[in-house]
Amino acid sequence: MRFDIITIFPEIFESYFSKGILEKALKKGLFEINIHNLRDYAQDKHHQVDDRPFGGSKGMVFKPEPVFLAVEAVKKEKDALICLLSPKGKCFDSKMAERFSECSQIILICGRYEGVDERVAQNLATDEISIGDFVLTGGELAAMVIVDSVSRFFPGVVGRSESVKQDSFSSGLLDYPQFTRPRSFRGFKVPEVLFSGNHEKIERWRRKKALEKTMDLRPDLLKGLELSEQDKALIEELRNEMKGGNNESH
Ligand code: SAM
Repeated sequence: MRFDIITIFPEIFESYFSKGILEKALKKGLFEINIHNLRDYAQDKHHQVDDRPFGGSKGMVFKPEPVFLAVEAVKKEKDALICLLSPKGKCFDSKMAERFSECSQIILICGRYEGVDERVAQNLATDEISIGDFVLTGGELAAMVIVDSVSRFFPGVVGRSESVKQDSFSSGLLDYPQFTRPRSFRGFKVPEVLFSGNHEKIERWRRKKALEKTMDLRPDLLKGLELSEQDKALIEELRNEMKGGNNESH
């Protein structure tokens, strides 16, 4: 699997991809990342990749020609995904990350300024992707977000693959809370159940906490979810606790 990132600021990526889990995975050859300077595909002697928008307005827009040439040069796989990063795109999420992890090549086009000539979205990109309802100054952070979250699904990248499945969103819920030493910090105590040694009880508590957090912060996630009988019972318990003003769900 390979990522190809097209950007006018290739150096931005160096430090992020040379640290932590991604660095190790790249060294092991689990996947590859190639960074391409869009300016190398500009056709004029000043390597200009942008121009003023037709119709008149502020700012500059990436010209179509260098973007088309760059994508055509780096595309190695017939079914490569060609993702234009844009706040106008489809919102990226964990399901999309998992689906993308099955592709053999993902090309990420990072815009800047006022964005990219619309003909790239219409006639070149296979996908127009946004990482959220906000506007960044460039697509580079969005590309890093996509590479990072997609590569976590590749076998061997995250040490224990079950931990990826337990993470927020993969299970359909937000993750349960995690604690480590010390057992008591400034009087804030770790829930007793985690020291019980009773794995069934701990699993039940974790599921309940995941449901509680999701109900509280992201109730929208619960809508499409198939709940088990145990989940329904835990939700009922949480509702009763809320009514009774008891938030102690140990
Ligand atoms: N004029 C554009 C608009 O309002 O839709 C915004 C352009 S933005 C300042 C410059 C570039 O940053 C975009 O071309 C895109 O590549 C990137 N970008 C900004 N916000 C983004 C987001 N939420 N998701 C993905 N890419 C984004």
